[in-house]
Amino acid sequence: MGAVTDALLTAALSAGADVRTEAQVTAVEADEAGTQTTYTTHDGEHSVDSRLVLSGVAPAVLDDLLGRAPATPRPAGSQLKLNLLVRRLPRWRSGVNPRQAFAGTVHVAEDFSQLEAAYGAAAGGRLPDPMPGELYCHTLTDPSILAPDLAEQGYQTLTYFGVHTPAGLFANDGTASEQAVDRALARWTLTWRSRSATASPPTPTAGRAWR
Ligand SMILES: Cc1cc2nc3c(=O)[nH]c(=O)nc-3n(C[C@H](O)[C@H](O)[C@H](O)COP(=O)(O)OP(=O)(O)OC[C@H]3O[C@@H](n4cnc5c(N)ncnc54)[C@H](O)[C@@H]3O)c2cc1C
Repeated sequence: MGAVTDALLTAALSAGADVRTEAQVTAVEADEAGTQTTYTTHDGEHSVDSRLVLSGVAPAVLDDLLGRAPATPRPAGSQLKLNLLVRRLPRWRSGVNPRQAFAGTVHVAEDFSQLEAAYGAAAGGRLPDPMPGELYCHTLTDPSILAPDLAEQGYQTLTYFGVHTPAGLFANDGTASEQAVDRALARWTLTWRSRSATASPPTPTAGRAWR
């Protein structure tokens, strides 16, 4: 993990760059004479003059830094992310090898009608039910994400992205995030846990989807 970042850092250093991390830019002033960027680090406020500033932040963030009115509407996040560390990959009732099943994206309640209904619920200010989402096992592709001793013991990570969960749903409701997590877990982990449950088993389809 981090190979691309390391390669970029090496290239920048060899080109003579001075790299500063853990630095929060608080203002950028720009006029025809040049630019001044103000930033804070653990040891206080600093500023640097330059001919140009290249920014990789969202347009609304850059507008804030430049002290100007936003040119575009401020984007709002719309995903719920859950990170899990698991001792082993969940078994599939179908018997499919979990290492194969989790090598790609596992879609949960993501057929068109479910996505459409979830969008409608979220747009109406409600948490979708069922909540569509996706699961990934990043450690199957890149075991270096885990500490070596955990990787040796067979641990894996699972990452879930719930979609159609706009940030506004959580802004004024302290219980909404717990409800969303419960709803996501109810959709998949409970079924995994109990292989003898009477509830209808998840049925992998051609697209590896569970409903
Ligand atoms: C939960 C999640 C999962 C994702 N998974 C995937 C995936 O699996 N595959 C994929 O291709 N894409 C994925 N994406 C999308 C991908 O992460 C983004 O498209 C990509 O990171 C955008 O890159 P960026 O450089 O434009 O912005 P960012 O990665 O957001 O970089 C902007 C940087 O600017 C910094 N910054 C902001 N304001 C300041 C400031 N004032 N001072 C200093 N620094 C500041 C931020 O800290 C941030 O590091 C995912 C996104 C999310 C949110």
